[in-house]
Amino acid sequence: MSNTTVSLHACKTYHYPDIKQAVSTIGEDLFGGWDKCIPRGARVLLKPNLLKPATAEQAVSPHPAVVRAVAEMCLDFGAGKVIIGDSPGMASAEKVCAKCGIMDVAGELGIDLVNFTESVDITTPEKFLHKKFTIAREAAEADIIINLPKFKTHAMMVLTLAVKNLYGLFVGKQKARWHFQSGRDYDHFARLLMELAYTVNPAVSILDAIVGMEGNGPGNGTPRTMGFLAASRDMVSLDLVAAEIAGLGFDDIYTLRMAREMGFSTELSDIPVVGDAIGPLRIHDLEPAASMQVQGPLFIRLFSGLVEHYLTTQPRVDSQLCKGCGICLQACPAASIRQPGPNLPVTIRHAACIRCFCCQELCPEGAIIAKDAIGVKLLKALNLE
Ligand code: SF4
Ligand code: SF4
Repeated sequence: MSNTTVSLHACKTYHYPDIKQAVSTIGEDLFGGWDKCIPRGARVLLKPNLLKPATAEQAVSPHPAVVRAVAEMCLDFGAGKVIIGDSPGMASAEKVCAKCGIMDVAGELGIDLVNFTESVDITTPEKFLHKKFTIAREAAEADIIINLPKFKTHAMMVLTLAVKNLYGLFVGKQKARWHFQSGRDYDHFARLLMELAYTVNPAVSILDAIVGMEGNGPGNGTPRTMGFLAASRDMVSLDLVAAEIAGLGFDDIYTLRMAREMGFSTELSDIPVVGDAIGPLRIHDLEPAASMQVQGPLFIRLFSGLVEHYLTTQPRVDSQLCKGCGICLQACPAASIRQPGPNLPVTIRHAACIRCFCCQELCPEGAIIAKDAIGVKLLKALNLE
């Protein structure tokens, strides 16, 4: 098998025996057995997407059945210690896991749940632009990391898949700092994500796309049955196959475009896919998140500085839904959210907003929606984006 092999499995439900079988087959497909992936006695970190507290049915985090199957495989095939950890955008890892059911899995299997709080420096491969990262201590100290992303639309990066999921290795406020540093430059943010992912280099990434999320993702979208579980040792290959199934190409996804710029192959034909075929799994009507910066034709780009405001997707607050909890105020890296008084609906100063969509991801009421500006709508209607 090649390192870029993707193991793809049609799964319509979270019926546990089927999930367990699929995860077992993933080990065979990618390593010739899980025992070859997990060194005896190894300290294994499972890194699920634990964005914020939500039920399993809301499809914000990987389903507990998937986490259970992977954890059991690690324990059965020689791991010395297995931990589940993340630095959620909102609340603690414990609170997120209690709400989605992963805490029950951890309790029954005797696995520690860790909310990342401490960071250590790691150096990056030589050719990367970033020379070092400061990431969660548990990730730096793990013998192997198993990356557990969830398939979701993403208002900033279009989709969140394997590469994006590792952003949670930045602890607490560091996430806001990196957002602020990247500003409105999504390509720079994609480079950061790629360099972080390929510095940490998980042993394998297993994508829960049995029920994913469409629309106003990654925190407040609509659950959508995608019907597959997919895994690879190579994150770009996995993300490319998942995007293809969802009807998107490499050039639709910032991290995949950046992967090509960094010299990765983004040709689907170069990726060996084993298990089920892509064709029957294809989805033709995925509702995307609102679509970010639109370039438009040349005459529009020449005046882009003047019309930028009308050519972007922006966070909008629904004041009827906003409960004034203040979570978005704390999350905003650009300090562009204002609240006129305690518990009152917030407003956004769009001139200062860097369009990171942290507020939209984390709002517990779904009161912040990524909306296309008028120019984006027009260009889309005219097929000129
Ligand atoms: S927009 Fe959402 S997160 Fe922000 S104050 Fe209102 S309810 Fe809270
Ligand atoms: S208002 Fe929302 S999208 Fe804009 S910078 Fe703040 S958190 Fe990011």
